[in-house]
Amino acid sequence: MAGVAVITMLAISACIASDDNDVSFVSSSRSGFGGDLECDEAALGSDDLTSFVVAHRVVDGELGEACFGERNEVVLDAWSKLAEITPPGQLGDLGLFGGFTSDEGGDEVTLAFVNTIDDDGTLFRMSINVEEADIDPDELLLTMAHEFSHVFTGVSTQIDRSSDSDESCQTYFNGEGCYAPDSLMYSWIEQFWGNGLIDEIDADADPTAGSGQDRCDSSPGFFGAYAASGPEEDFAESFSAYVFELQADTDAQQDKLDWIDGQPGLAEFRNRAIAAGYTPLQNNFDRCG
Ligand SMILES: [Zn+2]
Repeated sequence: MAGVAVITMLAISACIASDDNDVSFVSSSRSGFGGDLECDEAALGSDDLTSFVVAHRVVDGELGEACFGERNEVVLDAWSKLAEITPPGQLGDLGLFGGFTSDEGGDEVTLAFVNTIDDDGTLFRMSINVEEADIDPDELLLTMAHEFSHVFTGVSTQIDRSSDSDESCQTYFNGEGCYAPDSLMYSWIEQFWGNGLIDEIDADADPTAGSGQDRCDSSPGFFGAYAASGPEEDFAESFSAYVFELQADTDAQQDKLDWIDGQPGLAEFRNRAIAAGYTPLQNNFDRCG
């Protein structure tokens, strides 16, 4: 009898930086994990472009010993920064935390990505590009906030991953699932992606700075072209700007920062970043509009 191999497509949100070191981010889908916390190279999903150098299990919000590879100071530093800015209870949404090197060519480099470990989206893995993370400490901070926003907007109370089609989804189907009507992301979409903007997005395409450039050119509310690639990257970039007290370049950017400030629980990230002495960071996002 022939065996059946099942490869589950899981969400990945990857952060991309162009060669000129601007921060921008991308979401994409790749084949990834099985439904458990296996930690070998096959489970981690190293491929032609991505090689894991270390992975840790996260147990009840605490970083455990490395379960793959060797101790890496950049990864440990990234974790400690994430743990400083994130309310401790929320770190429990992570099941794995790892570091990788990337052989991507071209003008965009993956800084980090988040993917679900299980089908329901109850546990996540965050993976950091150890070479890029070492280059710019401010960029690393922004990246950690950006990535973690993909976690707290992607948990199973926020998005129904058993929904597998656009047709049955009354809110926004992002290619992986259907957002709950009262989810943070759907509220964001209603607030900032109205007037047909959301209909321009191909949820199955990998967002890139290039795919957001036209919207960035015509709208001053985005924090860079990558943010304009879709609502999730828009939120993630805006959230990182909010957490690290970036000065808004435009009133429309300020509206986004104010909206985030009004949501329950999100100010705690910023308050923790302030307490850690990480703010304010410079707003180096490319200007839109
Ligand atoms: Zn992202």
